[in-house]
Amino acid sequence: MSKPSDIIVIGAALNGLAAALALGGRRAKRPLDVVVVDAKDPRGFARNSFDGRASAITAAARRMFEALGIWQSVASEAQPMAEIIVTDSTRPGDARPVLLQFGPDDMKGGPSAHMIENRHLYGAMLDEALASPRIRFVVGEKVEAYDFGPGLAAVTLADGTTLRASLIVAADGRNSPAREAAGIKLVGWPYDQMGLVATVEHELPHEGRAEEHFTPSGPFAILPLPGNRSSLVWSERTAEAERLLALEPDAFEEELRLRFGTHLGTVNMVSGRHGYPLAMYVADRFTGPRLALAGDAAHVLHPLAGLGFNLGLRDVAALAECIHDAAALGLDIGSEAILDRYTQWRRFDTVATGAAMDGMNRLFANTNPVLTLLRRAGLMAVNRMGGLKSVFVSEAAGISGALPKLLRGEQV
Ligand SMILES: Cc1cc2nc3c(=O)[nH]c(=O)nc-3n(C[C@H](O)[C@H](O)[C@H](O)COP(=O)(O)OP(=O)(O)OC[C@H]3O[C@@H](n4cnc5c(N)ncnc54)[C@H](O)[C@@H]3O)c2cc1C
Repeated sequence: MSKPSDIIVIGAALNGLAAALALGGRRAKRPLDVVVVDAKDPRGFARNSFDGRASAITAAARRMFEALGIWQSVASEAQPMAEIIVTDSTRPGDARPVLLQFGPDDMKGGPSAHMIENRHLYGAMLDEALASPRIRFVVGEKVEAYDFGPGLAAVTLADGTTLRASLIVAADGRNSPAREAAGIKLVGWPYDQMGLVATVEHELPHEGRAEEHFTPSGPFAILPLPGNRSSLVWSERTAEAERLLALEPDAFEEELRLRFGTHLGTVNMVSGRHGYPLAMYVADRFTGPRLALAGDAAHVLHPLAGLGFNLGLRDVAALAECIHDAAALGLDIGSEAILDRYTQWRRFDTVATGAAMDGMNRLFANTNPVLTLLRRAGLMAVNRMGGLKSVFVSEAAGISGALPKLLRGEQV
């Protein structure tokens, strides 16, 4: 049996790699010994796979990437959002009046977010983790058994290898087997909606404008990528999404063009199309004995504000601060008191954000005439109120609330 490490991170996707870097990366002030376990080898899926997804990285998350030594590797692939427009209409394409607009004057502190394709984020985080001497990868085998203490936690892989550590950080995704093994329940529900994701190329430049078009079946977002390209997150009722996904590529592209409009000239798909079932789930506890959940293992939100991964980074930043503070004092990093601090920091914020996303989805994804009138009047009112707009911009930039050090750009 190998020597115990400080931490086992389960999951080498976006949140797992971020956790490994925050805890054991080269930039950590006092890096801990971290073992990252994944059923898949991230060297296979990080750079080469193209799942079509891109992420809106908030200003706070950008600071965290700077502190972790990632930003410089992805900066050339990042598209700043210079403007955000919001419409609310049953009409397709170009016939949607803009009800709310955030421009450079509303974002005086810099863009509230940058769009980056996930494959670039994965690649940069993986390179940095591989170059960090205190991070070790054990990949290609599934975790099949968990032991949560009391003295040390342990995981057993499919090939019989057992790994031990003071703490397990589960970043093992929305179906988190670690969460299930610990008996932690989920609160939430699936939506009768799917998120269709694709990348398109268009004739005219987007000039950094992000577009959120609310429709009765869900939001249709056009998010700017470097060059004349945009990432689409197109929410549809499940049956309609399944019909669209089953269409021949040309027929799908025609449907897409109808919703997209002609304001950016001719539009062509330059990626495959992917469908993700949408849901809102929050774990009823973020920790168990010698276990902390992070990322989709702890919460899954509607992607209408592109906050999922950003919330995961908030988990990672708060957890890393709790753990490094405890380690600096010589305390047991897997103890209940340390994990309680993490739960208190993160769970309320997550529930509040999840409820806000859920409320917005319900408010917009319907044709009730009274609600339609109210929400359109609301959007236009916000558009006229500078103070309220700056609150929205701070929220979108992720710079409000009690921020952990990493999200302020400080090392831990
Ligand atoms: C349509 C859509 C658009 C989105 N857009 C945005 C956006 O703009 N901005 C944003 O911030 N977020 C966005 N999100 C959310 C974001 O994509 C997710 O929150 C994020 O990818 C979750 O990453 P994760 O690392 O937590 O989990 P995952 O990516 O699910 O990774 C889990 C890992 O754990 C491993 N694993 C699981 N079980 C085991 C086991 N037993 N043993 C070993 N390994 C295991 C898996 O192999 C996998 O590699 C979007 C989501 C959707 C659906």
